[in-house]
Amino acid sequence: MPFRRIQLYISYKSMELGFNPEIVDAKNTSRTCPMCGEISKPNGHVFKCKWCGFQADRHFVAAWNIAMRLLMCRPLPLAAKATHEALAEVERIVIKS
Ligand SMILES: [Zn+2]
Repeated sequence: MPFRRIQLYISYKSMELGFNPEIVDAKNTSRTCPMCGEISKPNGHVFKCKWCGFQADRHFVAAWNIAMRLLMCRPLPLAAKATHEALAEVERIVIKS
C-alpha cells in the first residue's frame, strides 16, 4: 500500500475518533542519531552513529526521531541518555504528573 494512502487512512480514522493528527517530516529520521543529532548511514537494519557510537535498530531510531519532532513528545528523548534514565523520565512525566 502506498505511503500516502496509509497516511490518509490513519489521519481519517484518528479524526473519526476525535484526535487531531499531526504530519511530521520523515526526512533523515532513520539516519539521525537521537543522542547527538549527527547523521550516519544505517547499515542494513542497524543504525550506528559514527560520531558518538550510539547503536540501535534503524526503525527504532526513526520512530524515536519522529516522536522528537512532535511537540508533545520532546521532553522524553532529551533526557534519554540511557535506558534507565529514559524510564525514570517517563515515570516522572507520565505517572507522577
Ligand atoms: Zn551520535
